[in-house]
Amino acid sequence: MIENSSKPVETRNSQVCALEITRDWLHSEGGRGRIPTALAALVEATISAVERGDAPPEKDGASLYEIWRLSRGQASSGSPPRGPEFDKWWQAREGHIRQVCLDHDCPWAPTLIVRTGGGRQNLTTYAFDFRPLEADDPADGDSTAGQPTDSYGLRYRIDPIKPALWLRLLVGSKPFPIRSWRGYVLLGSVGVDILLIGLMWSVLVLSWSQPRPVTINDLLNLGLATVTSLFLWRLSRPIRLLPARRVTVANEALMSLSTLHGQLRTMHDGATRFSGRTFSMVRHWGVCPTCAAEVDLTEGEHEFAGRLIGRCSDAPLEHVFSFDPVQLRGVPLRADREAPVVARSSR
Ligand SMILES: [Zn+2]
Repeated sequence: MIENSSKPVETRNSQVCALEITRDWLHSEGGRGRIPTALAALVEATISAVERGDAPPEKDGASLYEIWRLSRGQASSGSPPRGPEFDKWWQAREGHIRQVCLDHDCPWAPTLIVRTGGGRQNLTTYAFDFRPLEADDPADGDSTAGQPTDSYGLRYRIDPIKPALWLRLLVGSKPFPIRSWRGYVLLGSVGVDILLIGLMWSVLVLSWSQPRPVTINDLLNLGLATVTSLFLWRLSRPIRLLPARRVTVANEALMSLSTLHGQLRTMHDGATRFSGRTFSMVRHWGVCPTCAAEVDLTEGEHEFAGRLIGRCSDAPLEHVFSFDPVQLRGVPLRADREAPVVARSSR
């Protein structure tokens, strides 16, 4: 692929760019598990090789596992991940990485090649290769026009959104690691909310400790305290739920006035309870495979309790999709919606 190009240096540079995007992605979204750590090391090795003009190196599973073990700085138990696990991990996230490469106007996206070995001498090896990205790439989001729809109905894209002014002043509008002063300020804001609620009610209860007639003022204070508590509790909800849910729907108080839909997103890094990778405020959205209107995430409410779902802006009650934050895909949730999509694609 590299040899045939008329502009080998340019190709090499853009391939290094794709690898660097992948490395940064693995750092912010991948986590510190066995597979992402090993892949990040493989990406580093591939970057140095491609920069030198060499072919992407192949590494076997055992040495990749050793890299992960050393990165932990402790004798870890467990076994090296097997080839199919690497393959599955990569394939679930490849679409997201391709989208990020596209967003950076990178003409290439890396793809993981797993060569399954057999027996003791013939080890399974891993290497990165490159796939050219075209404008009509499925990761682009509007692939539903010409080609048959795949068995997943919908692909989600991720775009950054503008946080509310108070949040921008506090932590800025760029994504940041949870383990930084910005991350602690964000998590601390939940504590401040709870503290304020506690303080307000303590003062109120203390003011009633002496027996005296109930006045209109008392009732007003009670109402004010209730409204303020509810507001603060609701304000902090997306941040409170974030460690457990990874993606939460942002409320109006967290987003700028011009923004209609947005979510908080952070992927876990698997180290400690409060460690996440990167916190970002984004909009997950897609193009409805039925009517081509935009699909945005909302809470599942009673019907799909405990889930985030994608609702079509033109048919919010009918064109409803699931949401997979890793694969960035959704399937139709209304049973009668599945049939037409399948029928159309088989024709
Ligand atoms: Zn629709």
